[in-house]
Amino acid sequence: MLRRGHSQAMKKHTIVLAGGGHTHALLLSALQKRPLPCHLVLLSSTRYTPYSGMLPGVISGAYQPEEAHIDLKVLAERCGCEFIEDDITGLTADRSEIITRTGQVIQYDTLSINTGSTQNRVIEGPDCVSIKPVNRFLPWLSSTLPERLKRYEQQSRPFNMVIVGGGAAGVEVAMALKARFSACPVLTLHILTANGVVAGHSPGVRRLVSKELIQKGIQVHSDFRVLSVLDHCITGQNGQQLTYDQVILATPAKPASWPGQSGLSIDQAGFVRVNAFLQSCSHSNVFACGDIAAFTETSLAKCGVYAVRQAPVLHHNLTAVLSGSSLKPYQPQQQFLSLLSCADGRAIASKGVFRAKGSLLWLWKNRIDKRFMAQFPLPQPGSMDS
Ligand SMILES: Cc1cc2nc3c(=O)[nH]c(=O)nc-3n(C[C@H](O)[C@H](O)[C@H](O)COP(=O)(O)OP(=O)(O)OC[C@H]3O[C@@H](n4cnc5c(N)ncnc54)[C@H](O)[C@@H]3O)c2cc1C
Repeated sequence: MLRRGHSQAMKKHTIVLAGGGHTHALLLSALQKRPLPCHLVLLSSTRYTPYSGMLPGVISGAYQPEEAHIDLKVLAERCGCEFIEDDITGLTADRSEIITRTGQVIQYDTLSINTGSTQNRVIEGPDCVSIKPVNRFLPWLSSTLPERLKRYEQQSRPFNMVIVGGGAAGVEVAMALKARFSACPVLTLHILTANGVVAGHSPGVRRLVSKELIQKGIQVHSDFRVLSVLDHCITGQNGQQLTYDQVILATPAKPASWPGQSGLSIDQAGFVRVNAFLQSCSHSNVFACGDIAAFTETSLAKCGVYAVRQAPVLHHNLTAVLSGSSLKPYQPQQQFLSLLSCADGRAIASKGVFRAKGSLLWLWKNRIDKRFMAQFPLPQPGSMDS
């Protein structure tokens, strides 16, 4: 099927938004007031996209999934954007064509990619899940995992759950799981990390996080780089061994494979290289933002914060493409505040060398996150039940 949207849009410039990540969600929210004069299409693998800031709260049970997801279909419809729920499986940049899982071939004049990332699968084995895609992780968390824990508890068998990755995501997920399953006596949580916890944060923050994990009884295995996995046993590069019943991957971000075969310029890891205008280094009619983009001006961590701040720049630049005016560069902030949820009504703040911990920080984080989500239509209560 070759399509270019509905028939009356045939002569209009077609902009395809690939993926409903943070940048595109914010762009669409802004477009509700003044839609772009073009045929706009949002192509997303899911109707409901998660807001990463509230994900640990969903895992701990502090939020319902519906509170932390954006209804992209409703959002798109509010600004006259066509919504297509389908997976992008291929892109031919030289022909300006997207190929989807259901066999659609979608042509564009301008493309913006905001499809996020997945986790590096350092472990392939039985009983091993990754946090992303979130729409597979959450149903597993609310049905499969509790059933397994119950079985182990009935048999009085210890259950070792290993989170691979000691970054902010791994640490927050570990604390959230601890809170969610606090009544399960057989569960022990472990974090495996090659460089200690929250590398990239100040030594003071790292100490604060380590202390918090110890107090919660979460065992951190530092300097543990996974070498191999056999029969539910992980072996590290230094010969360490750890048996597990369940692995959760919270490893560094990895791109999907299709950008690598698209003809777009990519970096060594496979992320789409973009210039200061968030524009592909090889194809000027393609933009990329959020995790999938490799910003060539300076190296950026894969953080939702950057995806959020790129939205006004993308908005300006797509408008400029249509009007023929100049593009605007994106200037990433040097430092930003991170608020890590301890999943017990407290949070840890980190910005440069500044650090703090407490319940007021959690209240502040909760307020920021709720205010962020208030801009978007949310799924109906119960609509995300698996
Ligand atoms: C547990 C956890 C907690 C985190 N907490 C924070 C935090 O507090 N602050 C922070 O800054 N960062 C946080 N992060 C990192 C953050 O999740 C990412 O940096 C952020 O989600 C990237 O946003 P994005 O806009 O690039 O894409 P995403 O928000 O990942 O969205 C990508 C979208 O594209 C869709 N998509 C993907 N592939 C396709 C395809 N092939 N076809 C069509 N659609 C597709 C997806 O369904 C999704 O809707 C956290 C990560 C995790 C795992």
